[in-house]
Amino acid sequence: LYRAKEMGRNTKASFSMAMDRHESMHTENELRRSLKEEHFELHFQPRVELLTGRITGFEALLRWNHPEKAMIGPDRFIPIAEESGLILPLGEWVIREAERVTRKWRGLGLDMDNFTISVNVSGRQFFQPGFVHKLLSIVSENRSCIELEITETIAMKTGEQTLDILRQLDRAGFSLALDDFGTGYSSLRYLQEYPIDTLKIDRSFVEKLEQDERNRHIVETIIGLGRHLGLRTVAEGVQTPEQRERLASMGCDEIQGFLFSPAVPEAAALAMMQSGLQAD
Ligand code: C2E
Ligand code: MG
Ligand code: MG
Ligand code: MG
Repeated sequence: LYRAKEMGRNTKASFSMAMDRHESMHTENELRRSLKEEHFELHFQPRVELLTGRITGFEALLRWNHPEKAMIGPDRFIPIAEESGLILPLGEWVIREAERVTRKWRGLGLDMDNFTISVNVSGRQFFQPGFVHKLLSIVSENRSCIELEITETIAMKTGEQTLDILRQLDRAGFSLALDDFGTGYSSLRYLQEYPIDTLKIDRSFVEKLEQDERNRHIVETIIGLGRHLGLRTVAEGVQTPEQRERLASMGCDEIQGFLFSPAVPEAAALAMMQSGLQAD
């Protein structure tokens, strides 16, 4: 629908749209098959505490290990999974996998207290009937390790239902993060009402940190807001030492980005933790 609008009155539009539809149906079928055959992987991107250099956790990011193509990133299939409803079984798989990895690492003797594995939750998944119940049945002992990342699109659906679900998750022991903060319809009201633990500052703000002074003020304000409300702030997409220094001086708690590491396969993430690798 969005694409159609974008293409406007172009006469080629309907043909392209038919092609798009055809392609997305093809992808949908492939996704369905890959789900059955478990051709997915979670990769893990570390989050680093600026004050100590400690790895505080990893964000679990979904990868499609397509049988014929190379590894496919989520931007290319999550929208289709959402549209088709496949995000429900896929999202459930992600949670099971995060739980499995957490349990495995704990079993290896790693100190999993004060450590988080963050999982992205899509809107459709969040609002499905019985979501909390399902989550609780999958994750039992490791709730305090698992952080659920939701976007502002979910959060802005104010009203009792969102608040009710978030409260249940909070009471059950999960941490909650607002992802891509600042890009959606940010409402300060939900920061006041919701039991949120973490603000993830969107990459687009971090990207322009050096060039754009107004943008810098915005980031500084978000960090200050987080501090005053007792929320952890995590800057996403940190790629340069200058950005890291800038964020440190602003009092940002953690960074995540290619500067330290991209998302890596499970074994590499484990090695990173075991070696106690620290950012300099
Ligand atoms: P996100 O949750 O905001 O995740 C951060 C994205 O930024 C990841 O892209 C990560 O690889 C990328 N990134 C991290 N540091 C840097 C950097 O320094 N530079 C650049 N250019 N990029 C960086 P990825 O893995 O492609 O994921 C894209 C989006 O797909 C995620 O954005 C998230 O919204 C969604 N996604 C990923 N996994 C899942 C999942 O399991 N379930 C759901 N529902 N969505 C997911
Ligand atoms: Mg995320
Ligand atoms: Mg809480
Ligand atoms: Mg994000």
